[in-house]
Amino acid sequence: MKKIYVFDLDDTLVLTEARVKIYHTEDFSLVHSFTPIEFNSYEKKANHLLDFDDFDCFETLSKGKLITQNLKILRRAHELGYDIAIVTARSNKPAVVQFLLEKKIPVDSSLVYAVSDPSFNYDGSVAERKSQAFIDLYKKGYRDFVYYDDNLENLEKVKETLQKKHAKISTFQV
Ligand SMILES: [Mg+2]
Repeated sequence: MKKIYVFDLDDTLVLTEARVKIYHTEDFSLVHSFTPIEFNSYEKKANHLLDFDDFDCFETLSKGKLITQNLKILRRAHELGYDIAIVTARSNKPAVVQFLLEKKIPVDSSLVYAVSDPSFNYDGSVAERKSQAFIDLYKKGYRDFVYYDDNLENLEKVKETLQKKHAKISTFQV
């Protein structure tokens, strides 16, 4: 069975200063500024405008702190000959690819999925878009998945999606 190790990016492989900013729809005043972990438990209100611009920025990503214990797992899997994919909610694939090259993280750019990048044409929630990326990996022939993410909702949705396809999946919340 063709096996692949899949990693989320923010708070799985790197910690950055990028924040999700929430503005008021009327006067555009800043209501909240969330780390990705804080944003996981945020519920959107009708008068809230979401701004993810920090997550498009290569410089902010490049200045982030690498999470070495998870990178070690990635490098070990690569050394053992397994393919590696990145599935991130980010919307700027070129910035992610540039970051991986700069940090010498061994991931082929064809296996980098920035699921909010319009070029992918995915829709729905982050968990749903991530699941669509895994379906694309399934279509590439992978049947055995090992998946690391800090977000439980992503892990559960992807697991459910792949189990319906009778693929093998192990998930790890980091
Ligand atoms: Mg994350």
